[in-house]
Amino acid sequence: MGFVLNSLFVYSPQSVNPANFDFHCHSVVSDGLLPPLEVARRAAANGVDLWALTDHDDLGGLVEARAAADELGMGFVSGVEISIEWKSIPIHIVGLGFDASHPALCDGLQALRQGRIERARRMGDALAAIGIPSVFEGALTYAGNPSLISRAHFARYMVSIGIARDLPGIFQHYLTPGKPGYVDHRWATLADVIGWIDAAGGVAVVAHPGRYKTMSNGDQRRFLDDFKDLGGQGIEVTCGSHSPDHVLHFARLARHYAFHASRGSDFHGPGESYVDLGKLPQLPEDLKPVWRLIR
Ligand code: AMP
Ligand code: MN
Ligand code: MN
Ligand code: MN
Repeated sequence: MGFVLNSLFVYSPQSVNPANFDFHCHSVVSDGLLPPLEVARRAAANGVDLWALTDHDDLGGLVEARAAADELGMGFVSGVEISIEWKSIPIHIVGLGFDASHPALCDGLQALRQGRIERARRMGDALAAIGIPSVFEGALTYAGNPSLISRAHFARYMVSIGIARDLPGIFQHYLTPGKPGYVDHRWATLADVIGWIDAAGGVAVVAHPGRYKTMSNGDQRRFLDDFKDLGGQGIEVTCGSHSPDHVLHFARLARHYAFHASRGSDFHGPGESYVDLGKLPQLPEDLKPVWRLIR
């Protein structure tokens, strides 16, 4: 009887075609504004039927997210957005459908979080040197999870003390390469991260490929070659920060590389995001959706 009841409620991505999947968003476990439960409720209210929470470098929200999704009758896939650098360019890799207790993945993410704290202290020092004191401490008060500190927390604190009117203003003038609060940082390597995701039984996906503005077209191809060679399988084609031209461009690349395509809002919170959960165009119809790869 238990089995029969359970089988009614366990979502199997392979057996039902989701009408609205969203595989990229954040909670207070990283730099989102809402707790996982609230993100789940918002996703469901927006019609999302298969959802992944993908906090930066931390899996701490997944238990709450899965329980909430189950309660709401929404399919759920474990997710994470991992920070790497490739040829010194910071890039994000989304991992999906992995075992969240796998030691290689958990240990790798733990090291990334430790690196974030050290980077944040250096950012605080750099900002103090131009006359803006105590920003590390201030940013920490904005971090829902003190072991996951992001430039977004710095930006929110700096807006609160009147350094600029909004987050984009803070990033533009203080927190991007060449600006006084930006410090160089060593993230994980592409090979490490694909290895962790693979070991944990998940699928690696290139996050928002249209956002790596400093990457030349040649580097974009070389990066995707490396990603494919190392076992990467997916690419975000439809995402919050992609223009219609980006969608066409990355759909072509998905076909060229035989990647599965992902779709994700990159929702961080009301008023702070390109688009709301689930509120983005469907993938081009001929592409293979990435949920097909998830066990
Ligand atoms: P980090 O991973 O600590 O380097 O922080 C990057 C995060 O900052 C991204 O995931 C976004 O949430 C946020 N972010 C990056 N650039 C901008 C921007 N121009 N405006 C607002 N938020 C941004
Ligand atoms: Mn973020
Ligand atoms: Mn990202
Ligand atoms: Mn993101």
